[in-house]
Amino acid sequence: MAPQVVPPTSDFDWSKLAFDLYPTAGYVKYVNKDGQWGAAEWVEEPYVKLHVGSVALNYGASCFEGLKAFRHEDGQVKLFRPQENAARMNYSAAAISMPEVPEEMFLEACHKAVAKNLHLVPPHAPHGSAGSMYLRPLYFASGAQLALVAPSEFTFIVYVTQTGSLYGSAGGKAPAVDAFVIEDFDRAAPQGTGTYKLAGNYGPVLRHMAQAKKNGYPITLHLDSKTRTFVDEFSTSNFAAFKKASSPDSTPTLVVPKSESILRSVTTKSLMDIAKSFGWNIEHRPLKFQEVVDGTLEEVFACGTAAAITPVRSITYTAPGGALQKVSLGDGQNAGPNTLKLLAELTGIQAGNREDKFGWTWPAEGVDASKA
Ligand SMILES: *Cc1c(COP(=O)(O)O)cnc(C)c1O
Repeated sequence: MAPQVVPPTSDFDWSKLAFDLYPTAGYVKYVNKDGQWGAAEWVEEPYVKLHVGSVALNYGASCFEGLKAFRHEDGQVKLFRPQENAARMNYSAAAISMPEVPEEMFLEACHKAVAKNLHLVPPHAPHGSAGSMYLRPLYFASGAQLALVAPSEFTFIVYVTQTGSLYGSAGGKAPAVDAFVIEDFDRAAPQGTGTYKLAGNYGPVLRHMAQAKKNGYPITLHLDSKTRTFVDEFSTSNFAAFKKASSPDSTPTLVVPKSESILRSVTTKSLMDIAKSFGWNIEHRPLKFQEVVDGTLEEVFACGTAAAITPVRSITYTAPGGALQKVSLGDGQNAGPNTLKLLAELTGIQAGNREDKFGWTWPAEGVDASKA
């Protein structure tokens, strides 16, 4: 039988969709007690009841994921690479002494959360430019424990919200933003937790992002904490760029920094696969910030689920001596041609306008409201 499809509700003004949290029908919850996972619970309010002594609240044992579902032209809704998020959540969970969430349970939770909120998945538009449904798997140590030992009760949640784009990238276009290098704060220590999507990594960055935004920089960049000479990533997303072409018809080279402190982005991984399929070169290696400054690179962009691709038109950093220096990149408006090609292919696959030759969209038959 064909999956049951629910069209976008007419009770929501889809033209006003922003990057925000909206009311939904509810969320999915599972509890692990004494090593056993309970059955899925459907919760119709956006709250969770927690013991004041929960290890998540007191000691920060909490991690999360972010992925999206898109409506295709035929009305079907599909998620983008949820298996990758399942694997990464378990990678994060292990770092904070939490048990594995079986992939099957992770997928079931994602399917249920979307299926029950299918009316809130925005209308189809090529490249997902009308928005998408954002899924937020959240996994934390809900058990109460005063002693600093590995906890024994855990809660896994998947909630969703309809969402617009983060920095305004949509419709195969991507307006460029100004970036600022944070110098007075280390996001991730060498051998620290930067590579895990832990809740605790984000709270301390907020005031630095807010300060930069106030100064006119919507996006902030972190260099490696040890030497401050290599590029790690942006506070919200990975860093990528192209090597400046030696001639207009030379094969593009996508450069992606390698560092033990970087969050392993599903978007970056996908873009590297797409670039490879175009026959382009990939350099995945430690990347000196000097290569940004001296013009070795062009078409610098940020990548992640929230914004897909956000081109960066300038990077401001503190030069030795303390003066601010600004490197200008690209035409100051839109993304470069190689970046736009990557963006069109990625968002085209997500929205079902381009052939999914990698098998990234899930489930193959579409989310089924009758199986919610
Ligand atoms: C989630 C996240 C990303 C992007 O990862 P995606 O899987 O592409 O969404 C990049 N950097 C940081 C710090 C993140 O938290």
